Amino acid sequence: MNRSTSMSGTTLRRPRPNLAIKLVLIVLLATTATLALFTWVKYDEARQSLTRQLARDAQRDAEVLAAAMSVPLWDLDKSAAAAIARTFMNEPGVLGVAVSESATDGESPTARATWLALWQQPDGINEVAWLPDTAKHEALVAQSAIVKRALGEESKQIGTVTIYVSRAPLAAALADSLKDLLLQILVLDAVLILLLTLVIRRVLLTPLSSLRQTMDALRAGDLAARATIGARDELGTISDTFNRMAAELGRKQSELVEKTQRLESLTTYQEERIAARTGELRLAKEQAEAATQAKSEFLANMSHEIRTPMNGVVGMVELLKQTPLSPLQRDYLETVAGSAGALLTILDDILDISKIEAGHMRLEQVPFDLYHKLDHVRQLAVAQTTEKPVTVSIDYPAEVPQRVIGDPLRLRQVLNNLVGNAAKFTARGHLQLRLRLVTLDAEAVTLRFEVADTGIGIEADAREAIFEKFTQADGSVTRHYGGTGLGLAISRELVARMGGRLDVDSQPGQGSTFHFTLRLALAEEAIHVPVNLESDASTHFQARVLLAEDNRTNQLVARGLLESMGCQVDTVDNGQQALETYRSGVYAVILMDANMPVLDGLEATRRIRARERDQGPDAPRVPIIAMTAQAMREDRQRCLDAGMDDYLAKPLTRLALHAALARYLTPRLPAPSEPTGGEQSEPPSPTLDEHYLDTVAQGRQAMIDEIVTMALEDLPDKLGRIERALARHDAETLAQQLHSLSGIASSVGGRALEHDVRKLEASARRGDIEHCRDQHVALSERVTALCAALAAKRDNPGPESIA
Ligand code: ADP
Repeated sequence: MNRSTSMSGTTLRRPRPNLAIKLVLIVLLATTATLALFTWVKYDEARQSLTRQLARDAQRDAEVLAAAMSVPLWDLDKSAAAAIARTFMNEPGVLGVAVSESATDGESPTARATWLALWQQPDGINEVAWLPDTAKHEALVAQSAIVKRALGEESKQIGTVTIYVSRAPLAAALADSLKDLLLQILVLDAVLILLLTLVIRRVLLTPLSSLRQTMDALRAGDLAARATIGARDELGTISDTFNRMAAELGRKQSELVEKTQRLESLTTYQEERIAARTGELRLAKEQAEAATQAKSEFLANMSHEIRTPMNGVVGMVELLKQTPLSPLQRDYLETVAGSAGALLTILDDILDISKIEAGHMRLEQVPFDLYHKLDHVRQLAVAQTTEKPVTVSIDYPAEVPQRVIGDPLRLRQVLNNLVGNAAKFTARGHLQLRLRLVTLDAEAVTLRFEVADTGIGIEADAREAIFEKFTQADGSVTRHYGGTGLGLAISRELVARMGGRLDVDSQPGQGSTFHFTLRLALAEEAIHVPVNLESDASTHFQARVLLAEDNRTNQLVARGLLESMGCQVDTVDNGQQALETYRSGVYAVILMDANMPVLDGLEATRRIRARERDQGPDAPRVPIIAMTAQAMREDRQRCLDAGMDDYLAKPLTRLALHAALARYLTPRLPAPSEPTGGEQSEPPSPTLDEHYLDTVAQGRQAMIDEIVTMALEDLPDKLGRIERALARHDAETLAQQLHSLSGIASSVGGRALEHDVRKLEASARRGDIEHCRDQHVALSERVTALCAALAAKRDNPGPESIA
């Protein structure tokens, strides 16, 4: 096993045998020290005992020698004494012998101190004069008195024997004993090491290793692993604690596992619930969407169903209006027309709101003439306020560009609604359609549109509510004025889709100003809009028209209208017949209903276009104008996609039909001169578009009289102001006054004047006052001509002014 594993940043190392060695060493050191002390004591003891033994032996020898020396000394027989001494010195270890006489009274003790001295020398035993220094030779010295013992006499010391014994045997004995002791110590130590190692291994290392193995097992994930140490010592306690800790760890771990499992199952449950809920919600959403879709389709279908008969009503009224009628009949007819118009408006409103809600409302992005649109709105306002003392004005600052890109129809719808409301809720005073330039750059213009009135105003708390569907400011007031409460809701939505927000400022009793700000891209090229076509609806066409329409009433209406415009009409009932009849090639235009039995208008158109393609690139292309009762915007695209050129919504109106035909047919103009060709294809404008006044006044002569009288007052007044501005070289005022003049001209149908004044206004805006001055005479002639025509219209009302 050679694992060294790292866990949670802690490194567990395999224990090295250091511990055992250390322990053995410690014990060994202690024992050795003790034994050494013990040996020292023992050695010292032996040394002392041996020394004592040696001293005793030497003493005994000295005594024996002293006894032997007694006679020779008494006899002073030196040679006998020497012989005895030599014999004695042959004993091993004896270094020397000295015999001294005891001093007699009165004699110096040193004078006769040494009588005989023998010393062991390398060459043998020699008699020496003096005794060597004992310490120097480390010899052991023993002395004994030499006594003269005679019978009956008291023993008397006659001398002293001193022997010198070598210490060498003592040292040798001591060395031997030391050797023995050391040997004993070594053996003892070896045995101790063996024993200790065994004991340590058993008592310490084995349990520790077991503990380590348990730890390894735990670390490896075996939470059931436990240390098995039976001993009741500290290691046993550690093992118990460790086991408790492992058990706790295991418990915690299993708790954790259990909790995790519970959490997982909870999550799964929640996920299932969420999935189920999402499914339910999706279903509910799909149902709601399907319901909205169904509602919108239902409304579209309803509108189709209602529009088809309405188409008949409106068309028949149009035709009826062109027949001789008594004033009472005309009055009734106007009421019918008004009611039908109102019904169509409501229908359109409901359709619009359902389209917005169903997300079907799509806005166009086409270039259009903003001034032209606003002027139409103004005309509507004039028409709606003719019976009240309300003046209508438009404020279109000179710096505002005319050609922009957007959805002209929807913009006009919003402004018409605001102006319609203003006209409805204003009894007297002023109604103003204002435009404010916010920013202008190379690509776009930001404009604030304002419709201000001096009407009843709106209470503060109702100012938000009126933008809700079917909500009106004041029930009682509204009952008096009528309305569905949808107009502002639609308008706000439309403005929002154009990128603005419709809001209102109002003072109850003083008036209201509805406003919104839009950013409109600038249109680069001039758009081809047939100038004043609507006002020229009295012109005739010399053309053969194929009318494909299955509904009898509609056939009658369209045919009547077409014939009233001078067209020769052939009628067929379905697309198949249209396809067959068209082949004769005599038709200048085909008017095609989109929905027909057998072969519908779209398919018939596709086949006609296919046939034209087959005939080659130079084959004439017959213009096809669609007619459909379905008011959805998408229908228009479907018609165009099928190859149709234009689109008319039913009920057909004379103006719309005329405008559409004018786009494809050359009108047989009442004015004599044809355009000189080339670029100037614009038809000349009539001095007075009488039909326009009739439309605005809806045939009421009193209203026509009133409008004409006002215009006859205002026109010369404006001319005077223009002259004064010319004299002052005041281009700005000049432009303003010209603008105002063109407004008056347009509101009475003075097309030629309006046309000329527009051009002059543009010059004035450019600062080209000279041109205006040059044209001044022509201008006053135009004014005079218009005044004359108006006066004639007022004074000699024809039986019917419509051709
Ligand atoms: P309605 O068809 O009823 O006119 P709108 O949504 O156009 O529906 O208008 C909602 C209500 O807002 C009106 O009924 C009227 O109470 C109030 N209102 C709108 N325009 C004006 C205004 N110019 N002056 C006063 N009240 C107005």
